[in-house]
Amino acid sequence: MKYALLDGKKIIAKPGLMGHCPSCGSELIPRCGNIKIHHWAHKSAKMCDNWWENETQWHRDWKNLFPNEWQEVVQIADDGEKHIADVKTTEGWVVEFQHSYLKHEERESRNKFYNPKFIWIVDGGRRKRDIKQFLKILDIQNIVRYQEIELFTNDNLLNRNTLIEEWGFSKGLVFFDFGKYEKLQDLWLLVTHSDLKTYLVPIAKEQVVQYLLEGNFEKLNQVILSLEKILIGDNRDRKTRYTVHLDYARMRKIQRIKGRNRL
Ligand SMILES: [Zn+2]
Repeated sequence: MKYALLDGKKIIAKPGLMGHCPSCGSELIPRCGNIKIHHWAHKSAKMCDNWWENETQWHRDWKNLFPNEWQEVVQIADDGEKHIADVKTTEGWVVEFQHSYLKHEERESRNKFYNPKFIWIVDGGRRKRDIKQFLKILDIQNIVRYQEIELFTNDNLLNRNTLIEEWGFSKGLVFFDFGKYEKLQDLWLLVTHSDLKTYLVPIAKEQVVQYLLEGNFEKLNQVILSLEKILIGDNRDRKTRYTVHLDYARMRKIQRIKGRNRL
């Protein structure tokens, strides 16, 4: 963890300090070696939150974009189940930064626990093949345009891409982050309904962060919800597919993928 509690205050790990876990209250010791990022660890090997994953620099870079008091917030359900949310905004949105692979059931239990204001930011740069697969989808012929928003889709997206297969049908909002990979600088929102109705929406990372910081994420969420309704609504789908084909001819002229939506 990035923070321990000392005299009720959040402190970061430094050699010689001692602190307590904000969730279970047990003693934490600072780990300040050269290999892993500096963090607090439980004194006993037993972790108090089995959902917690070892943090990478990727996690820290994300957390650091938000105020200290929003980071590592303990969440308690009515039945006493307790977890530490990576980030919780004043609007009540919980943001989880997920680096490692999660089994379907684990993902579902988190979706349920943090429902309904829940956002996943998934590290898309963990496996090289994911980036390769992803770049294949971003062929210009797969662009769909809905009003001013550019989306990517393709028949059978769910089966062609491991990341999408793993994260499809999530109750929480799923954004893929490919970090500093040159062609994929935005966050990619995943909209899934079925293999034929799966879309990726590139949204500038700074914009998503800004909405969260300014307490306006609900506005962005409303745009996403209406987008989802139109894209995956049964009676509208035929029309959407039409638009794909119409736009295709026009889009072929575009030489490079802009991939930057302002929502
Ligand atoms: Zn603990």
